[in-house]
Amino acid sequence: MRLILLGPPGAGKGTQAQRLVDRHGIPQLSTGDMLRAAVKAGTEVGKRAKEVMDAGQLVSDEIVNQIVSDRIDEPDAAKGFILDGYPRTVPQAEALTRILAGKGQELDAVIELKVDESALLKRMERRVAETLASGGQVRADDNPESFKKRLNEYREKTAPLSAYYAGTGQLKTVDGMADIDVVTAEIEQIVAAAADKM
Ligand code: AMP
Repeated sequence: MRLILLGPPGAGKGTQAQRLVDRHGIPQLSTGDMLRAAVKAGTEVGKRAKEVMDAGQLVSDEIVNQIVSDRIDEPDAAKGFILDGYPRTVPQAEALTRILAGKGQELDAVIELKVDESALLKRMERRVAETLASGGQVRADDNPESFKKRLNEYREKTAPLSAYYAGTGQLKTVDGMADIDVVTAEIEQIVAAAADKM
């Protein structure tokens, strides 16, 4: 099962991806997590990505396409994966189609979490407060200024992916403002329908 979760920052993609991991035993491939790991490890990619990420801007397509292509080749992704935070632009989506075709694979579904943007900043602030209260570390880009930039990047560059995947017939939309468990149930229905077609 090869899935993409689409939605603006704070829409709940991470939470839903984790539930899919637990239920279906396929890995969540988050380009954000992979890039943060590269930054932490001080790799060449990490050095190139750090400033761009801290400013809430997008890392180059060349870098992320390569990380994703390599990651998909890992044995744990052989039966499928959930892409979280990638593709983020139409050129990345086109690259992904080519990358998968080159490996004899294709996507089973693209699930978009639709949310009310005005609620997102509040969600982000709550997430930061909860993390701090539990003694955790807050992400460098979890501040209102970077968050607004990430939201703008989403609107400009990522929102057009809905039309791209609607065009390929793979887009499924879920109300991301619903209760977390309701969102999960709707996603499970989509996954079950896609599995039937496999
Ligand atoms: P995320 O954890 O998905 O919000 O990603 C955090 C940051 O990593 C983003 O603000 C970007 O700077 C970078 N990033 C993650 N995924 C991508 C991607 N597919 N394309 C470009 N930049 C990305």
